[in-house]
Amino acid sequence: HARYIVAAEGRHDSLDAIISFPDTQSGEGAEEEQHGQATISSGLAGKSIAVKDNIVTKDLPTTAASRILAGYASPFDATVVKLLRQHGAAISSKTNLDEFGMGSHSQNTNAGPVLSPYSRNGLPLSPGGSSGGSAVAVATEQCWAALGTDTGGSVRLPAAYSGVVGFKPSYGLLSRWGVIQYANSLDTVGVLAQSVEDARQVFRSLDVFDAEDPTSLPVSVRQRMRLQNSGSGQLRIGVPKEYNIQELSSSVRSAYARTLNALLAAGHTLHQISLPSTRRALSAYYVLAPAEASSNLAKYDGIRYGYRTSGPDALPKDNLPLYAQTRGEGFGEEVKRRILLGAYTLSSEAIDNYFIQAQKVRRLVQQDFDRVFAQSNPLLHADTSNSLNAEGVDIILTPTAPTLPPTVEEVKRQSPVESYMNDVFTVPASLAGLPAISVSVPLSGQEREGLDEHDVNSVGMQVIGQFGDDESVLAAAKVVE
Ligand code: GLN
Repeated sequence: HARYIVAAEGRHDSLDAIISFPDTQSGEGAEEEQHGQATISSGLAGKSIAVKDNIVTKDLPTTAASRILAGYASPFDATVVKLLRQHGAAISSKTNLDEFGMGSHSQNTNAGPVLSPYSRNGLPLSPGGSSGGSAVAVATEQCWAALGTDTGGSVRLPAAYSGVVGFKPSYGLLSRWGVIQYANSLDTVGVLAQSVEDARQVFRSLDVFDAEDPTSLPVSVRQRMRLQNSGSGQLRIGVPKEYNIQELSSSVRSAYARTLNALLAAGHTLHQISLPSTRRALSAYYVLAPAEASSNLAKYDGIRYGYRTSGPDALPKDNLPLYAQTRGEGFGEEVKRRILLGAYTLSSEAIDNYFIQAQKVRRLVQQDFDRVFAQSNPLLHADTSNSLNAEGVDIILTPTAPTLPPTVEEVKRQSPVESYMNDVFTVPASLAGLPAISVSVPLSGQEREGLDEHDVNSVGMQVIGQFGDDESVLAAAKVVE
């Protein structure tokens, strides 16, 4: 292991975006190790890239912002990290997050809550989560770009709240090998950057098949998808009527309308679409994600990794065996809530009413999207060349979140269910595995009315595309940017 510094103990960034970083002054070859041996000539050469602390690295500890992984050091690099090093990028730090990715504001962390660089009337704003550390590190130029993970919006929401770009590729394109699981069927590695172009460059460097990840899309499917990208030029843009919800704040609503008008003026066409299952997507997500989490997190037992309760190992303490004691002390409140929720919805008395229903809703959400896109879904049709839906749309545009970021104070007053509301627009694309990006659009003078100079000056707009149509999503995002 190279030498590293734990941010909370050493040189510190005041926003707590970083958990650990290499000690380049230790003279132990850390610098070399960081830059690695570039074996692929690439635009990433020499660029500093931060990595969310739920993605394993050999030279820096990996904690997922959980006490239960305190002191854990991985013997290997995640495939995405290995690829970054092969492209000559330097891993500049590990970034703070909601424990195991569970949260929307990066406050559920054992490493200290992340603060946004923005504030409202002197009160810090939510940086968004769970990849809030990565978003803030990019926004404050502590790195050139950062990796995050997105299970239900965790790359897109912090990008929107912190004023940067956040791209979640189609499920299965970027390897999950070495990514600490939250909910495997939804977990996706994503990229945070200052611009769509930078995010695209990182994405393209990581977009390769990985035999270590059983859900990595095979080469044949990738080739087929590449041939059918709907491309750029004039875009048919879908505007889902179900996203016009009451909770949409006036500034977000106005910025959304302004963005749509600008696209219309640039020669693209707008089409009202209906995604009727959207309203049930959020509840389905909050059944499915905790169910998978409760199973994935069973392995943290105090024996194999990280934290173990102190006291005699074999002896029960407070009548609790070692596992329970370790888990009780090692997991934070939100993680425990999800484990209990998941264990319940998978139990024999509840599974039919919760888990099975939620899976059905997930299928309906996927079908909603397949109905509105011009391209057919390459996972359902091997030959999509003559199945183009002429009435369909190329991309869908929505706000990333219903409101501007709340203050951290407001977040603390929210019930867990209220805080799940932030994910209402990001969760549908996650359930369907679709590529989606959040691009920050500057607020107009009118939309900033009532906000002081330290408040955010942009709002996140989300572009969603058909499965595998990632390049079109990126191309469309450039138009919005
Ligand atoms: N906020 C959502 C959750 O807590 C999404 C998190 C994520 O995408 N990792 O589950």
